[in-house]
Amino acid sequence: MTDYFEVHERDGAARLGEVRLTDPVTTPALADPFLVDAGSLWTTDRDVPDGDGSVLTVLPHRSFPAGTRAEVRESFRVDHPDLDAPTAAVVDSGSARHVGADAYVLADAAGFVGHGEAFRDAIRSARASLPADTALFLSGVATPANVATLVAAGIDLVDGSLARTKGTEGKYLTADGERFLEDLTELPCACPACATPRESFTRADCAEHNVNALEAALRRVRERIRAGRLRDYLEGQARHEGWLTATLRLFDDQWGYLERRTPILRDAEITAASAETLDRVEIRRFADRVTSRYRNRFTDQPLVLVPCSATKPYSDSQSHRQFHDAIQWRGHTVSMTSPIGVVPQELETTYPAQHYDAVVTGDWSEAEIGFVAEVLRRYLRRNDYSRVIAHVPEDGYREICERVEADTDIDVPFEYTCVDHPTTDESLGELNAALHGEPAYSKREREHNTVRAIADYVLGDGAGDAVFGDAAIRTTGRYPKLQVWADDDGGREGEPGTQLATMVPQYGTLSFTLRGARRWVESDAPTKRVTIDRFVPHGSVLAPGVVDADPEIRVGDEVVIEGPTAFAVGRAEMSGPEMVESTRGVASEVRHVEEIAR
Ligand SMILES: [Zn+2]
Repeated sequence: MTDYFEVHERDGAARLGEVRLTDPVTTPALADPFLVDAGSLWTTDRDVPDGDGSVLTVLPHRSFPAGTRAEVRESFRVDHPDLDAPTAAVVDSGSARHVGADAYVLADAAGFVGHGEAFRDAIRSARASLPADTALFLSGVATPANVATLVAAGIDLVDGSLARTKGTEGKYLTADGERFLEDLTELPCACPACATPRESFTRADCAEHNVNALEAALRRVRERIRAGRLRDYLEGQARHEGWLTATLRLFDDQWGYLERRTPILRDAEITAASAETLDRVEIRRFADRVTSRYRNRFTDQPLVLVPCSATKPYSDSQSHRQFHDAIQWRGHTVSMTSPIGVVPQELETTYPAQHYDAVVTGDWSEAEIGFVAEVLRRYLRRNDYSRVIAHVPEDGYREICERVEADTDIDVPFEYTCVDHPTTDESLGELNAALHGEPAYSKREREHNTVRAIADYVLGDGAGDAVFGDAAIRTTGRYPKLQVWADDDGGREGEPGTQLATMVPQYGTLSFTLRGARRWVESDAPTKRVTIDRFVPHGSVLAPGVVDADPEIRVGDEVVIEGPTAFAVGRAEMSGPEMVESTRGVASEVRHVEEIAR
């Protein structure tokens, strides 16, 4: 059996896991304290050291010549019945394959760590060949400066050997790089080793400090993963070495690897403080969905483009209340913002539209202008408006609008209503006047369109209409805490019928009831389905019970759970592929379940 490693939390490709030793270890971690190298013990026969569950045993490297028969390979599997201790197998990143170990040591680590492209390719290759619930272990390469990047790529275990060696060579390591000990006037650390006076600080002390600094860096990384904020840290920390910055960008270029591993919603705020923020999965996913899934349903009203506000959701801000008073439901409000792009009013609460904090200087970089212009361009190609009223100030906003307006395939002219600042009386008067004679939409229309827009965004193109029909729903509650009810199943006068879903204001998503989930499954909308074995899940579905799962499922997705004896709805805790690969861990929480009589 190989059940000594389990992943508990995910933050992009980084994971918080547990090596189930007698004293469990939370990963990412230094493996040295619980490592036994059994290389010499298992070279000639199948005797395995008697594991008592307190150590991770590293098995010797077995490479098979090309063409080795499967039976021969199988005979060397480590999940042999007589092996009941946690093990790590040594493999090469390019030819890794699962042999039943809990962890895999990548033997070629020293060759690829330090080189962005080689590192990215090695990790992606190893991860593609090994199940998600196995730990990746890099030996002899970790430093306080690179360990956040290693973990962000998907590494779970490292050791202190390089840090120790560098110490004995007189190199003093910190999270921002390395210095020769003799060049340091002060020791920039307060660990026990560094309590030694500067003049009597030896290379042995330096080695001890280096390992302490690596352990401290790992603690910081673990806390960042728990908070869902490793990326924000990395955008700053990775500046200290060229290859680390390169690696951040190279992984961003590989949309699939990180996207599959990034939750679709979370509580953590995104700090938009560097140019790389524009390349984050969360930002690109929002821009992608707004321009490929979302569809405007306020077809009788003009588009009104307004600047974003620091207060979120935007409609709670002073400036947006003023815009609203001038617009009076006669325009479809879409906010322009860096780094998110464009945010239609129906999606103002949807993650990450109310979960980011941008650095406000009033100056837009060329990259920001280009990004927002491209999103607006794609938005306007997909959504037709009779008029576009741009109520935006004279800076990046205006330039974006002029660039998009100048595009040959955008045939609706922009009207500019901002005189000086968007909230001056004169500007607001112009905005109000521009909308004179336009028809107002109703509160009901606004609420229904919000629910359908969220369904489009979360479930897929066309889902809002497919699941919630054209006029077959009612909404109750006060925005943004809306409840959605079926309007076609005999609800009496004044009674709303059966509840289908609830809008979740914190993330701008939907929670379905069983009835709503049934409607979803029976509609033409893409279903995120988890197929389970013959059991009725309560509270959660564990990975071993999953028979199949839609590969499009991401952490945080609403999922339908179906098996021979149960129908349920809940929220995914793993991606679809991870549910299928894993033999441990919670695959999905279950909100509602019903037993199916057979
Ligand atoms: Zn120290």
